[in-house]
Amino acid sequence: MKTILKNGKIYVKKNHFQEAIFIENGIIQEIGTNENILKNKADNIIDLQRKTVLPGFNDSHMHLASVGDAMTSCNLTSAKSINEIILLGRIFLEQNKEIRALNGRGWNQDYFTTGEKRMLNRHDLDRITTEIPIVFERVCGHVSVGNTKAIEILGINETTVVDGGVIEIGSDGKPNGIFNENAIHLIQSVLPKKNDNEKENEFLKAANYALSVGITSVQSCDIANKDFINMLRIIKNIYNNKKVKLRYGIQYNFQNINDFKKYIETEFKTGTYDEKFLSKGTLKLFKDGSLGARTALMLKDYVDDPGNKGVEALSDKQLQDLCNLATENGIRVITHAIGDGAVESVINAYSNTMKNNQNSLRHGIVHCQITNIEQLKRIAELHIPVMYQPIFLDYDNKIMESRIGKDLAKTSYAFNTLYKLEAPISFGTDSPVEDCNPFPNIYCAVTRQGIDGNPRGGFNPSEKMEVADVIDAYTIGSAFNEFKENFKGRLTPGYVADLIVLDKDIFTIDTDKIKDIKVEKTMVNGEFVYENK
Ligand SMILES: [Zn+2]
Repeated sequence: MKTILKNGKIYVKKNHFQEAIFIENGIIQEIGTNENILKNKADNIIDLQRKTVLPGFNDSHMHLASVGDAMTSCNLTSAKSINEIILLGRIFLEQNKEIRALNGRGWNQDYFTTGEKRMLNRHDLDRITTEIPIVFERVCGHVSVGNTKAIEILGINETTVVDGGVIEIGSDGKPNGIFNENAIHLIQSVLPKKNDNEKENEFLKAANYALSVGITSVQSCDIANKDFINMLRIIKNIYNNKKVKLRYGIQYNFQNINDFKKYIETEFKTGTYDEKFLSKGTLKLFKDGSLGARTALMLKDYVDDPGNKGVEALSDKQLQDLCNLATENGIRVITHAIGDGAVESVINAYSNTMKNNQNSLRHGIVHCQITNIEQLKRIAELHIPVMYQPIFLDYDNKIMESRIGKDLAKTSYAFNTLYKLEAPISFGTDSPVEDCNPFPNIYCAVTRQGIDGNPRGGFNPSEKMEVADVIDAYTIGSAFNEFKENFKGRLTPGYVADLIVLDKDIFTIDTDKIKDIKVEKTMVNGEFVYENK
């Protein structure tokens, strides 16, 4: 199959565009002027009508299966009060009478505009129903709240202890329904297990949504802990049967070293992957929690919560043991680190695994939000890839200074500083924490403003990035994490034809409007997999 795309504004690299592209069997053969490219014989010639074409985006950290799950559970992201959450829960129950448990996610008490501005608790959820269990996860994914029924079913009481987690106790001396960090798994275990078919459908739903917004590759963390074989089986079945054309790199979450050892002895040794659509993947760890929930691990106390430095999901020793084992086996590690305390610990753990300060496995940091300047320099020196989510600024720019103080905020979310220091940075959305649509994400990196346009002129405006730099980080930068920077992420000969056609020119449009850009067509491996009709 030979295809020509002609008459476009095709992004090749910074300040460099071409008109036409010749693709054969999914691979870009040639790129150049209309005249030159049209000398080739093609089965198919498509007129781009001067539209802008970019490489497909590669979301460097997200949770695709959870996106699918979120698409089929009660969405609480729009709720502006506790009463509204209760109403949304009641409506969802009314529309889904057959469900055995009510699962919701996306609430955030910082967005409440009326009533009490506090965390949900079990008494709130009991107002939805006391008949079936309810679990409502906070937007950050580090706090879940259950109703009284859920707590009763699980037999949890004030004496229940979870390693690495917190079950909050209310003023009556009983659990108040709030579960933090590792305790989340306990409360969520009350939700009925989905079968393979349901999980596959959710996965495909999310994958097709990602393609429709211009994502052609994801690096996704959907497989965790002991029962990793089950989710892996579902994902392998999807890719072995070519059910979707979204390229997928696996991020395995094993917090427990014994689960990781089991993986190394089994799937890691014998599993097969085409490395084109499904890639073998990396170890994903958590060092801390989130800024919103004040569980990010800080070097100093939270300014607005003296005595609190956040939560450690892994001790330094546990983290080091996991990193050492991964390195010995040639497995790349990425670690969730949001607070400067967590970032410090992760840099140390990685550098201990390196010979001559060479980060040859490309061990990376996910989020890397709160940083001081020394840490940024070390990250660059050790060439540690950082997976940023600029869209987090939309919410965090409102709370950052009150949580961590003005000084530290100045060197945090330091996308441009790190980029200029030539650290390998990439972008993603941590979806379903945020929508995986890349355009609001690019807008935040370029303007440093929230979606509402505030603060006008941007938060720490010196950290604004140029549009082309953001696109590079989001495409070839993300591919670097996967050791695939010679395979995808650029529109240049020898690379796979993964590309998107935009409705507006991202390079000339008013930057405030970048967030509203729509994808007209998405091509993966030389074939259109999405068209907006
Ligand atoms: Zn994540």
